[in-house]
Amino acid sequence: RWFAGGQTNLCHNAVDRHLATRGDQNALIFVSTETNIEKAYSFKELHAEVQRMAAILKDLGVKKGDRVLIYMPMIAEACFAMLACVRIGAIHSVVFGGFASHALASRIEDATPTLIISADAGMRGGKVVPYKHLLDEAIRLSSHKPANVLMVNRGLADLHPVEGRDQDYATLRQANMDTVVPCEWVDSTHPSYILYTSGTTGKPKGVQRDTAGYAVALAASMKHIYMGNPGETYFSTSDIGWVVGHSYIIYGPLIGGMATIMYEGLPIRPDAGIWWQLVEKYKVSVMFSAPTAARVLKKQDPSYLTKYDLSSLKALFLAGEPLDVPTATWIGGALNKPIIDNYWQTETGWPIMAICNGVEQAPTKFGSPGKAVYGFDVQLIDETTGEEITEANKKGVIAVNGPLPPGCLQTVWGDDKRYVSTYWSSIHNKVMYSTFDWGVKDEDGYFFILGRTDDVINVAGHRLGTREIEESISSHSNVAEVAVVGVADQLKGQVAVAFAVLKDPSVASTEADAQKLEAVIMKVVDDQLGAVARPARIRFVTVLPKTRSGKLLRRAIQAVCEGRDAGDLTTMEDPAALQQIKDSVTH
Ligand code: AMP
Repeated sequence: RWFAGGQTNLCHNAVDRHLATRGDQNALIFVSTETNIEKAYSFKELHAEVQRMAAILKDLGVKKGDRVLIYMPMIAEACFAMLACVRIGAIHSVVFGGFASHALASRIEDATPTLIISADAGMRGGKVVPYKHLLDEAIRLSSHKPANVLMVNRGLADLHPVEGRDQDYATLRQANMDTVVPCEWVDSTHPSYILYTSGTTGKPKGVQRDTAGYAVALAASMKHIYMGNPGETYFSTSDIGWVVGHSYIIYGPLIGGMATIMYEGLPIRPDAGIWWQLVEKYKVSVMFSAPTAARVLKKQDPSYLTKYDLSSLKALFLAGEPLDVPTATWIGGALNKPIIDNYWQTETGWPIMAICNGVEQAPTKFGSPGKAVYGFDVQLIDETTGEEITEANKKGVIAVNGPLPPGCLQTVWGDDKRYVSTYWSSIHNKVMYSTFDWGVKDEDGYFFILGRTDDVINVAGHRLGTREIEESISSHSNVAEVAVVGVADQLKGQVAVAFAVLKDPSVASTEADAQKLEAVIMKVVDDQLGAVARPARIRFVTVLPKTRSGKLLRRAIQAVCEGRDAGDLTTMEDPAALQQIKDSVTH
């Protein structure tokens, strides 16, 4: 608990607090290269829109402490919705627009929202991505049914309104143009939002964030890590469905009195210069993206990176997945700007490791996200003994000696036991938080991240649980058993590869039949979880490598897929199983 006994409001800190000093300054700059809409909202205008949205929520019966699920594309109304929730003390839960009905249903079931806010469709690469039928299906699948669904109609796809449940945002907004909705003061420890993330089990965990600790952590990070000043512009290319979107598209920059750019579109459309064009136009001083995006740009004409005036830009921050040295070197050179890697998680809400130039200037070492950030007592723990590793360059589990600083998760929504048993362990009188990442620390205190210790994979900066993908594939009637592993990929960092045992293998006995079945199963994953979780390949085998006690040897499968030595296999039941995996990947 941080700042217990205090009262505050996140929306007040992000919006209202700035009205007197910077009311006419840009707050939210919405840019969609998909619909060709570009619209800037001043703090005053944002304040008005958020109040209209808050009035609608209240009209629809949303009260303090109620959950509101937001399933929306990257549009300004999603920002209004988030801020309106925290304004009235409601707890938002944003679900990434790329997730499909099953993934959405499990989150509706867990968060039990009073209201869901959505839109007819998103757009990606010029294609309309309809949302409404996925939402209707998710509500059908869930045992919890929200009383109302508020729909933003962009005029992109059919809405199929459900009588008595679906409400039209534009109509209700019109009725509330001048409604004043004051901020509801909440306890410092009042939950501001729930954000679901993947873990070892198939069931996503609802990371629960507080209010005051989060506001303080973000405000401090703007100064000490990102070095963004009030009046400047922050551009994070993430999505509001992820933690970076929460912390550094919406709350961080606004709390810091900065304008924030919310971008709907691809980094290479209309051409690979679009981001840099925005940097020039809005004098962006801080930019935040993911290594995958840098790798995408690396494949394009490099002249796009030097075509625009980037003099306002102080640094490019990259996070979400390992930043490889060639990518860091290339983009740093091409932009002629400092590249700052930072390491963190949905759970922590802000960086655990970074170079904090706002505290103390320090050189960057490519391949490393830097040193432990103030507030985090980061230690490397020996997996077998539980002892702290003090020796340089020795691998251990990255842990934080509790308590966690302000801004980190309070608990797992509705499941304190799971929070404690998942993340915390007591080692020699120390209570330690596990990040579930491997790492090493060099002689200078710089950390290097070596991948997850659990079954979480990271595809293009998106965190996915292999168990969730396995459960989805298993729902196909011909799949008896399946193993999904993350395999190193040059562009995306990792991709998911599945190995499935069929009940009736004759269906995939020819190459053509196997390909057909592979496509059918991929469609199952698309429909249930979303294309973001679709494996790059689904290969069919007759047996999976397991230990004699029946445990799936995922690390061995992964090693074989990456052409590495599979390690100690003395406990393996059937060595031929691994050979099959080997044959199928080299085939
Ligand atoms: P998420 O919760 O989606 O932000 O994913 C968090 C996980 O992404 C971490 O536990 C790491 O495995 C990985 N990750 C995030 N940032 C970095 C980074 N800068 N370098 C290496 N891995 C990272």
